[in-house]
Amino acid sequence: MGKVICSYCGKETVSIEEHEIELSEPYGGFSTVKIKEKVCNHCGFAEDDDSNDIVIQKELSVLKRISMVKVLDALNSMGHTTASMERALGLPARTLARWKNERSMSPSASGIALMRIIRTYPWILAVADMQFDHEAARNILLQNAANELVKIRSEHPEWEMTSSAYVSDNYLEVFIKGSINPVPEAISGENYVFTLWN
Ligand SMILES: [Zn+2]
Repeated sequence: MGKVICSYCGKETVSIEEHEIELSEPYGGFSTVKIKEKVCNHCGFAEDDDSNDIVIQKELSVLKRISMVKVLDALNSMGHTTASMERALGLPARTLARWKNERSMSPSASGIALMRIIRTYPWILAVADMQFDHEAARNILLQNAANELVKIRSEHPEWEMTSSAYVSDNYLEVFIKGSINPVPEAISGENYVFTLWN
């Protein structure tokens, strides 16, 4: 390694300081890497060492692989086989298996993005199975939104739940409300009010 020169003042009074930074990838967890900073003892100028980019990119690609394996494991454990996912998504056979198992093969950025979206909303697979039919997609979305509401409800057993729906020729209102101390609702007599949870 040649003499390190401060790129601000040009003096050779530069020392290398190492410090750790934390990296993360969605569904891939965290990792730390040591990066180098060049600090000039003369003028105080500090800059990243050129080697940092490679160190960071290398570790991020490791985390991306871990992320892909975890995403596919999670989807498999939900009952989505690799073959059924490939079929629904129109991917060539064994694409997902290769992303998961072949250490030498890095999944593409778009492949990783696709699988993270599916891991976040696994019911997208059911939409894909229906050839992205608009009506089916809407129904699946609403069913899953309802499931999420039921889950939120069970996470908060102390909540009193109230809900209401009102439809007229030019008006649609639907609401579900959970609160610890329910405030009596002032709703006009025309509204149809029902309580879901009692
Ligand atoms: Zn300097």
